Amino acid sequence: MSDDFSSCLRDIPDFPSPGIIFKDISPLLANPQKFTEVIDAMAKIIEDQSIDFLLGIDSRGFIFASALAQKLKIGMVMARKPGKLPGEVVSQSYDLEYGSATLEIQKDAFEAGDRILVIDDVLATGGTARAASDLVEKMGAHTAGYLFFVELEFLNGRQVLNADSVNSLVKF
Ligand code: 5GP
Repeated sequence: MSDDFSSCLRDIPDFPSPGIIFKDISPLLANPQKFTEVIDAMAKIIEDQSIDFLLGIDSRGFIFASALAQKLKIGMVMARKPGKLPGEVVSQSYDLEYGSATLEIQKDAFEAGDRILVIDDVLATGGTARAASDLVEKMGAHTAGYLFFVELEFLNGRQVLNADSVNSLVKF
């Protein structure tokens, strides 16, 4: 399965900075057959997890989370970059290799005890997904698991994630 879906990615060297090989998901999105297969495969993983909300991470995480929300009839929440969400928000900053970044969620997005699944296109070092989960926990909800299309295993991102259920379809 992994080989099959990996053909829907292309490597872009030196993006967004020199030395980085970026996994571009555009070929997947341009192929409705494959995109459907990917969403079906991701949906199968979530099916039995009793999830209250899917949390999509800005911005490519939204693509997967919204397709899954429709298919599984589960509500979706956005974790956004700072200053994008209206109303009161909860914020979480996290370290990048150079500098830091912040994610925000609307304050009334979850009820205490809700089970949340964090979704993004790619798991790299894990900092972004972990920050999204820290937001969930700050709000009194619970991170039930994580789901990614691609996992860059050589970066060991899983090690910083705080849930037993961490799944991805394509591993490098
Ligand atoms: P991390 O915080 O795990 O190091 O980086 C993950 C975040 O950066 C995700 O939001 C993901 O969209 C983005 N990202 C990092 N590397 C890549 C990549 O090679 N391809 C894509 N599509 N996104 C990446």
